[in-house]
Amino acid sequence: MTTTTKNIADNFREIIESLGEDPNRQGLIDTPTRAAKALQAFTQGYQEDLTTLINGALFESEMDEMVIVKDIELYSLCEHHLLPFFGKCHIAYVPNGKVLGLSKIARLVDMFSKRLQIQERLTKQIAKCLLEVTEAKGVAVVIEAKHLCMMMRGVEKQNSSMTTSMMLGLFRDNARTRSDFLTLIQR
Ligand SMILES: [Zn+2]
Repeated sequence: MTTTTKNIADNFREIIESLGEDPNRQGLIDTPTRAAKALQAFTQGYQEDLTTLINGALFESEMDEMVIVKDIELYSLCEHHLLPFFGKCHIAYVPNGKVLGLSKIARLVDMFSKRLQIQERLTKQIAKCLLEVTEAKGVAVVIEAKHLCMMMRGVEKQNSSMTTSMMLGLFRDNARTRSDFLTLIQR
């Protein structure tokens, strides 16, 4: 176990105790360590670096039609409550000589999701990063997510979800491109 894992686990043990529970009872004995490892996995994005992630999966291409990747699963942690928010991310870009491997787009979403986030910033970071990497003519990102910090408090909010979007380049300047994208991601 790393020092960091141990530190986080020690803190979780204190939290459990502060909640009035006995951290030494059978069911909870390994919980601090498990919770620490889980939290580290959920914030793995801080350890990742863009160059390693892309790893040469940027290809030259004459293609200049919109590329859309729909329904990318997304799990993140809200930075205000440290509770999950989760949902789908839809991404489009209009290439300008370069295309990025499909799996890398999903990895990019993961890299920014696995941090302490707010949905608005997450949306923006994914869009800006994809634009920077591909030098595309435009990038669009839409995230639809449910937030446990809303769902677990107050019955009226249980089914609400939040939608955020970021439009860059062509998607911002050209209403037709934008509406094509929004139509294509509707199911
Ligand atoms: Zn929250």
